[in-house]
Amino acid sequence: MLRARTFAPLLASLLLWTFLAPAGAQNTRQTETYARVLDVLRAVPAIDTHDHLWPFDKLPGYQETERGRGMNLAGLWRNSYYTWYNPLTPWQPGQKFDPWWQQAKDDFDDARATSFYRYQLPAFQDLYGVDFETMTDAEAADLDARIFDNYRDEKWLHHVVTERANIELMFNDPYWDRLGFETYYPFEVLVFNVTMLVQGFHREEFTQPTDDPYLFAEREGLRVESLDDYLVLLDKLFETARAHGAVCLKTTLAYRRTLSFENVPKERAAAAFGRPRGELSAAEIKDFEDYIMWRLVELSAKWELPFQIHTGDARIQGSSPILLVDLIEVNPQTKFILFHGGFPWTDDTGVILMRHSAHVWIDSVWLPTLSYSTAKRAYHEWLEMMPSTRIMWGADCNHGEGIYGATEFTRRCLAEVLAEKVDRGDLREEHALRIGRQILRDNALELFPQLKARVRKEAPNVP
Ligand SMILES: [Zn+2]
Repeated sequence: MLRARTFAPLLASLLLWTFLAPAGAQNTRQTETYARVLDVLRAVPAIDTHDHLWPFDKLPGYQETERGRGMNLAGLWRNSYYTWYNPLTPWQPGQKFDPWWQQAKDDFDDARATSFYRYQLPAFQDLYGVDFETMTDAEAADLDARIFDNYRDEKWLHHVVTERANIELMFNDPYWDRLGFETYYPFEVLVFNVTMLVQGFHREEFTQPTDDPYLFAEREGLRVESLDDYLVLLDKLFETARAHGAVCLKTTLAYRRTLSFENVPKERAAAAFGRPRGELSAAEIKDFEDYIMWRLVELSAKWELPFQIHTGDARIQGSSPILLVDLIEVNPQTKFILFHGGFPWTDDTGVILMRHSAHVWIDSVWLPTLSYSTAKRAYHEWLEMMPSTRIMWGADCNHGEGIYGATEFTRRCLAEVLAEKVDRGDLREEHALRIGRQILRDNALELFPQLKARVRKEAPNVP
């Protein structure tokens, strides 16, 4: 019940709230703090810990156009996250732009608020000076032609990645050639993708020669007739990856199976070795995969290759980072990197870091692209839960515009979070700038110290 004498203070506080509300509700992006922080973050030469940038002549976005094979607007959208759940009018080989655009321009109507759409907009705005949402048909045709022209020369990619996105080094996960150990770009850092190796119980598992460890064994003169032989082969693969400059491992098993890996006795794994899938039960296959995953985690420590593990949104069931905790706890020598912040279980990922921050990192790669607001909340919370040394970022794209967009999206998101903490009085501005530089650059250089010899750019001085 509201009594008269309590009413006056309540009224006063309501008035005070009304007075303060406009300031509190102010859009962070309108503040001077945000502008200052963002300026500094853009000036930080970033270390992008994850992308999929195919060799220039094989970029998956290329289309057959009336001007020949090359990149176009349809290719940039088709090979983006936008099409994961949004429609896009198919590009017909050799067709003209205008008829495609007349259909395609309405495809975006229901996607306007989604991050999978919005993350590419900064690329059109900043690289082409075009507002994708209000452009005329003539401007769209001009944009399409300019995209095609840019991709006539690989220099465009170099320009966008290293100058416009200000990425100094970019980790590349070559899932199209996992065991080739090749790099294509001067700014590239090699990643050893070990996803398929858990399936090595039988050679028939490998339908792609580029994934086939048995083919690698033949080239190396190694016989693989037992589980022990297979373990020797794995060790040789790690040695070779290191020799080619790989700095970390990557697995996307979360797209194929659960992240619950049991510590299986060797005999159970050996029982599956050498038998084709058709002769094995699902449980026997899982035993083998689990056993190999534990060995990969040990080899990660042995060869000093930190382990990037896709967690969260893939198969939704079985991709929670919490499922990795047993593996993490028993392997303190291995450096685990939980990708995508475990989206949408970002606070679960946070609590893992609270308990195991000595050998676990969070990579916020892809997170702002999945959901800008989730990323904002996650950065806010993570910075309250763990040392600022534990967070990294990556763009996770396969063309220059996507990389630019995802990078700018990440910088804005981080700048908002840091500016809000500063303006609330929860962080001094100079400390916020230091944190921004750590997430974009310094943390990766600390975790991968061999990269320090490859960086030349000057990062803004922060305390
Ligand atoms: Zn990826």
